[in-house]
Amino acid sequence: MSKLLEGKKGLILGVANKRSIAWAIAKSVSDQGATLAFTYQGERVEENVRELAGTLPGSAVLPCDVMRESEVDAVFSKIGELWGGLDFLVHAVAYAKSADLDGNYLKTSKEGFDTALGVSAYSLTLLSQKAAPYLERNGGGSIVTLTYLGGDRVAPGYNVMGIAKAALQSSVRYLAYDLGPKNIRVNAISAGPINTLAARVVSGFTDLYKMAREKSPMKRNTETEEVGDTALFLCSSLSRGITGQIIFVDCGFSTLAF
Ligand code: NAD
Repeated sequence: MSKLLEGKKGLILGVANKRSIAWAIAKSVSDQGATLAFTYQGERVEENVRELAGTLPGSAVLPCDVMRESEVDAVFSKIGELWGGLDFLVHAVAYAKSADLDGNYLKTSKEGFDTALGVSAYSLTLLSQKAAPYLERNGGGSIVTLTYLGGDRVAPGYNVMGIAKAALQSSVRYLAYDLGPKNIRVNAISAGPINTLAARVVSGFTDLYKMAREKSPMKRNTETEEVGDTALFLCSSLSRGITGQIIFVDCGFSTLAF
């Protein structure tokens, strides 16, 4: 049987280490035949990303801080050089200052707000803008981002990141509307809490993680591989009629009233 993403080219932003959700996604899509380009933010994670990407033959590795438009432009010129076009883009990037992920949301500074929203929400719009011509070149494609329930409801300690995720989720719907006529789909996966580098910065993470395990209908935590396989579905033609959606991969936690 032919693989779901045979011959397809994908750009993945957000691998920091082997626990990253972006890495689980990379493994799922690569198992189904996709060739990948990875980005890394800063020298701190470059070696990790190069090492991981090295295990998937044919992968490219490029620097990209999403707050620097020139670096985003350089990524897409390289994609153009390497492949001409692109079939899918995975946005698994988020950041807020640790001081803003502790205590009350009420005390958030303008600077902390701008940083969280810029890195975690606006970057999807910027990347979609820049990726669109390359996705169009391949007849359309799929953009997938990652969100969390704290964008819909209050998750104590998630604070400004919750506001960023609400903006991200709304961006998914507006981008899906704008890009739909070009056959470019935009969706988000809302994952249950997973023990990654970014998650550990959230002060209430341990409680959220434990509560998800104890209360979710499936009585366990979400695994990165489950998010990876849903991203594979969203990047493949199996999901060709789906756009502008937030799909929960959280063992059912979000269905609970309390
Ligand atoms: P992670 O720390 O492995 O990944 C976060 C990535 O964001 C890192 O690779 C980091 O380098 C990158 N990043 C931060 N600032 C950046 C910038 N300025 N430019 C480019 N890249 C930048 O953690 P993760 O949990 O795998 O996070 C991936 C996504 O999944 C995030 O959007 C996160 O909010 C979301 N998510 C995580 C969970 C969870 O519980 N871990 C749950 C739901 C959603």
